[in-house]
Amino acid sequence: MKKIGEKGAVESYRACFRSIDDLEKIATQIKSGCGFKKKDSLYFAALKKDVDELKKEFEARKKYDFPVEWMEADEVKNKYLIENSYGGILSHQGGSIDAYTLAHDILYYNYKRGLKIFDKTNVQHTAYKRNEVIITTEYGNTIKAKKLIYCNGFESTEIIKENFVKLLSTYAIVGEQKKEQSILNDTLFWNTADPYNYMRTTDDGRLLIGGEDEDFVNTKKRDSLLNKKAKKLEGKLKKMLPEYNFRTDFIWAGTFGETEDGLPYIGAHSNFPNTYFVLGFGGNGITFSVIGMEMISAFLKNKKHLLTSYFKFGR
Ligand SMILES: Cc1cc2nc3c(=O)[nH]c(=O)nc-3n(C[C@H](O)[C@H](O)[C@H](O)COP(=O)(O)OP(=O)(O)OC[C@H]3O[C@@H](n4cnc5c(N)ncnc54)[C@H](O)[C@@H]3O)c2cc1C
Repeated sequence: MKKIGEKGAVESYRACFRSIDDLEKIATQIKSGCGFKKKDSLYFAALKKDVDELKKEFEARKKYDFPVEWMEADEVKNKYLIENSYGGILSHQGGSIDAYTLAHDILYYNYKRGLKIFDKTNVQHTAYKRNEVIITTEYGNTIKAKKLIYCNGFESTEIIKENFVKLLSTYAIVGEQKKEQSILNDTLFWNTADPYNYMRTTDDGRLLIGGEDEDFVNTKKRDSLLNKKAKKLEGKLKKMLPEYNFRTDFIWAGTFGETEDGLPYIGAHSNFPNTYFVLGFGGNGITFSVIGMEMISAFLKNKKHLLTSYFKFGR
């Protein structure tokens, strides 16, 4: 609200809120095996000094009728056994999926309806013509199209010259639990720490915990920190849930983009004729992708969209 005004902030939040239900519909419609599950989401204060800001966030959400309640630290402890919280916002809108499986299921569904997919194919050059674009791949093949939609994530920084996103390396571990600890199964968790931590259980009964973000330098540097970051995450889990029975099975790192206002870039760019971008930066990339689908569909039909000015380049 401070950064872009109340209207833009509320409309962006509403769109993300709705997109969770839209994702559920899509997952159901295509019979995806992504394990979509509606969950609550607890955003808790990691430090006492964070409580005031978090309460303001809570009041703002309540004012606009989002289904939230405030949980005191002892309620958090009683319900979830989390030791080091100073209370937080429990939101009754959230969901978890295996995003990788959903992406593949969506592609396969559309492939059966005629979508052409060129997997493992690097786009190396694009010629922007008056009425079309011509893409050249790494193998020298060309693809012609009336319109091009780039969904190339953080690699968009290789073609867009201005400084519009900050890249971070982020880490996660996932592991089995040796005994039944279903207390966390219906809720997503994240905190106000900097860098923040988040955790949730997975459809196959594991626990996933992530965070420990730091500035991205290159993929080699990012991956060289894997073991160190995994140990840190295990330590954080131990502090949060001392009694939790956890054994790390997998660790991984990813790169993601953070924007000044936490919003994505979706729309046209003056240097790229006949082209749109859908860049789901900001850590809510999954919900932004649903909004991107709506917005680009509108643009292709020459229709306006409520969020255009909030997600545009050069805002
Ligand atoms: C560990 C981790 C946890 C996350 N957790 C969450 C979460 O819980 N909820 C949430 O909403 N978001 C989460 N995010 C963020 C979310 O994953 C991203 O915001 C989202 O994936 C961004 O989507 P995108 O389509 O913009 O880009 P991406 O998913 O990065 O996709 C870009 C694609 O473009 C391809 N590409 C790039 N350049 C080329 C080229 N020249 N030729 C061909 N292909 C190219 C890439 O290979 C890639 O497949 C998480 C991110 C990470 C890393």
